[in-house]
Amino acid sequence: MFEDRRSKKIIFLAHCIFNQNAVSDGTASHEGTMTELVELINLSGIGVVQMPCPELHCIGLTRGDINGRKRSVTEENSRIRNIMEKETSLVKIKHLIQPVICKIMEYHENGFEIKGIVGINRSPSCGVETTSHDSKEVEGQGVFVTELQNELEKRGLHIPFVGIKGFEPENARATIRSLIGFDRKPDHNSA
Ligand code: SF4
Repeated sequence: MFEDRRSKKIIFLAHCIFNQNAVSDGTASHEGTMTELVELINLSGIGVVQMPCPELHCIGLTRGDINGRKRSVTEENSRIRNIMEKETSLVKIKHLIQPVICKIMEYHENGFEIKGIVGINRSPSCGVETTSHDSKEVEGQGVFVTELQNELEKRGLHIPFVGIKGFEPENARATIRSLIGFDRKPDHNSA
């Protein structure tokens, strides 16, 4: 089954890797997509699933305060974290992760290789190695990543999670290279 051109390899990416318009005010690192990463993954032949942006769904583009960008990033992130940890947000997050889990289960059960899940470090929602708390960047996960990982573990799925930062493109590329086991520079001379 599925013996056609598809690679049967999938990666799940944080929403804002493809859409910087979703990030909180003042924190976009790119105009649109994180081009370095998207280019690398495109060349690898791995299929991509873009996960939903939990903050956009739960508290909107302004994150509930049009003056958010006047605070430092970690201060604003910590304010956002406090909202994302409220019961009303957690209910929405649990709802949001269901389609993600459904897709992961479906690919897994049909023998596809899930390369990993890529979050955004320092984010109060999508941080993997670091998040924001008490106006500081600290070790730990964001609210969405914690919920997603817990739900996957409950189902016996141990998928690698890694975090990147858009403002550190070389580190981000190295992290993705290592996760997917692929590195090829784009051949701009090819016809
Ligand atoms: S890090 Fe997560 S919550 Fe923040 S913009 Fe990206 S997808 Fe949305």
